Amino acid sequence: MKTLAEIRNDFPILNAKVRGKELVYLDNGATAQKPAVVIDAINTYYKDYNSNIHRGVHHLSQVATTAYENAREKLRGFINSPKLEEVIFTKGTTESINIVASCFGRKSLNKGDEVIISAMEHHSNIVPWQMICDEREAVLKVIPINNNGELLMDEYKKLLSDKTKLVAVIHISNTLGTINPVKEIIDLAHQKGALVLLDGAQAVPHIKVDVQDLGCDFYAFSGHKIFGPTGVGVLYGKSEYLNDMPPYQGGGDMIKEVTFEKTTYNCLPHKFEAGTPNIVGGIGLGVAVDYMQEVGIDLIHKREEELLAYATEKIVKVEGVRIIGEAERKASVLSFVIDGLHPFDIGTLLDQLGIAVRTGHHCTQPLMSFFEIPGTIRASFAFYNTKEEVDKLISGLERALSMLR
Ligand code: PMP
Repeated sequence: MKTLAEIRNDFPILNAKVRGKELVYLDNGATAQKPAVVIDAINTYYKDYNSNIHRGVHHLSQVATTAYENAREKLRGFINSPKLEEVIFTKGTTESINIVASCFGRKSLNKGDEVIISAMEHHSNIVPWQMICDEREAVLKVIPINNNGELLMDEYKKLLSDKTKLVAVIHISNTLGTINPVKEIIDLAHQKGALVLLDGAQAVPHIKVDVQDLGCDFYAFSGHKIFGPTGVGVLYGKSEYLNDMPPYQGGGDMIKEVTFEKTTYNCLPHKFEAGTPNIVGGIGLGVAVDYMQEVGIDLIHKREEELLAYATEKIVKVEGVRIIGEAERKASVLSFVIDGLHPFDIGTLLDQLGIAVRTGHHCTQPLMSFFEIPGTIRASFAFYNTKEEVDKLISGLERALSMLR
């Protein structure tokens, strides 16, 4: 088992100074830092075997293809997908959700059909559904939440009907930290014959995700939030549904045969991977999930739970702080507001101390409207964060407050 010091050593940026101060990086919900093994894998690809993949007969192309496809296998194992072909490389969560909205929507949504999302969705799990529902004359329904930031499951049950074709919900909320009861959500949807997509962007960094155990039909996540590169992510989908959907984009790699009269499409996963993909991104992401597994997802979860409990206990003692998101089951996301002060001002003052937090609406404007706030200050912890860093956040907040009040 790696010690915390060893883990921190694995991430070169954690030794950085910001404005002359030691960096305290608490913006992991936006993007996580990269361990040296990932950075090295990216370097090695460009130094030693940069080449386009698939169809290449030459050596470098074969090496790159093998590395890329090995990475797909690693991601399959990471989420326990039963089949390799069900793991599609995308640009990230946003593209993964857009693929399902656009392709499932075009094939399966008709006038009067219904799609259900929730009040705590990220914009990327709202807007694609609005767009396709508009186009297909389908109806978008929203599961409401309570003041703690938990889904109202009785209301969800009432929304489900024979018209429901798909339910798309966030697994863990990026703004509130709420861990949603996704298994129950899936079971209830399946009883009505509806499919379920989970936005797993904030779940895979924190908890073990097993798509077979969950029983979801689609699962979307981004590489950069799990210590991999930006611009790469995954869409998991059950092959029976992916096979049934039209392709997302046309171009190279997604075809079997092209004539001017008719084109036939490639098999999964390539059918949804038109054009040269983010080869180095996929390879780097494979290394990132290896790294997470080496550290141990259970250990990651345990460390982060401890950090969240410690930070929550400390922050409620700061005068005027109100936590936004007090669900019973939470991941290591701590959003809060401070009476009479704008989150942006607090974030700017914390930055002067080298402390990186996120302020604003976190791409969840409807959630901000629900809580009647302009935004929150969000500290989001990763397993490499420390209690000392939480202490710096608290003393930084107190200093900011004494300046602003
Ligand atoms: N969903 C959630 C819950 C997120 O936190 C994010 C990123 N903030 C996204 C979707 C979008 O991810 P990406 O920008 O990597 O596509």
